[in-house]
Amino acid sequence: MNKPTLTFVIPCYNEEATLQITVDYLNELLRQYIFNQLISEKSFLLFVNDGSVDATWQIIKNNGSNAVRGLKLSNNVGHQNALLAGLHFVNNKCDCCISIDADLQDDIAVTLPMIEQYLNGSHIVYGVRNSRRTDSAGKKFTAHLFYKIMKGLGCDVVYNHADFRLLSNKILTELQKYREVNLFLRGLFPVMGFTSTQVFYERKKRTAGETKYPFKKMLQLAINGITSFSNYPLKIITRIGLLVFLGSILISLWVAYVVITGRSVPGWASITLPIYFLGGVQLLALGIIGEYLGKIYLETKGRPRFHIEEEI
Ligand code: UDP
Ligand code: MG
Repeated sequence: MNKPTLTFVIPCYNEEATLQITVDYLNELLRQYIFNQLISEKSFLLFVNDGSVDATWQIIKNNGSNAVRGLKLSNNVGHQNALLAGLHFVNNKCDCCISIDADLQDDIAVTLPMIEQYLNGSHIVYGVRNSRRTDSAGKKFTAHLFYKIMKGLGCDVVYNHADFRLLSNKILTELQKYREVNLFLRGLFPVMGFTSTQVFYERKKRTAGETKYPFKKMLQLAINGITSFSNYPLKIITRIGLLVFLGSILISLWVAYVVITGRSVPGWASITLPIYFLGGVQLLALGIIGEYLGKIYLETKGRPRFHIEEEI
């Protein structure tokens, strides 16, 4: 069998603090794999600069070579879209591709079993975290909650897997068919099917720089993930609505009984409580519907998800 051509896709946003180390590490790894006849000499690294405002692009340019290539997006489009830009770019330029974060929190050593799984016939190899020891208690809890909710809603996401994975070129080609603007890649690949496996690793702390995923962005990603893959929240609304309606019928029966038996006391609670309750339920319902409506709006516009300004 011919040696496969492997590419690494690395989205980078303001990563000047860690990028040079990452380039050196991955370059060395690639050199070793080529030396050991595991992959072809045409293999390369692709750094996608996601509209960084620091020296990130300069660093990528300085390292530019056959093995180190760069893609400069015209503005910051977010991790998922930057990754997509890279995945589209390497399609048909390789046999398989591994996506990995620029901070090397993910263990590059397991890229070897990933490649082996690919050679054994897997189209998708998910990198799965063994534990979350390096995470703060808050991140651990919210992450766990997120996977629980996704599972409860019937979304088939791989537990503790982020965007560290190997994809065959076939998958990259299939990916071109997905046109959605609201992108949640880790929900997408399990939906595709194909032979897939998992490899396990321990996630490290960031080598340098700070996280580009503060709580607000994480929440956004989670909401996007849930609403992009499930209509269940809309169904919940209907059920709550039905329940409240039935409840109000019971209450009116009770009110009639109280009036008939002449025991009615001018009640404050019985008036204000339903107002707050119904107001809350309605706002919640409107909010959820709004989330979906906003999505439909974005999808119908069908705007491009990224622009490539420069290529190295
Ligand atoms: N990233 C990106 N665009 C963004 C935010 C992040 O390309 O708008 C990249 C970032 O450079 C890194 C990866 O996405 O390579 C994951 O980000 P980070 O390590 O900050 O997330 P965390 O590991 O803290 O969840
Ligand atoms: Mg990170």
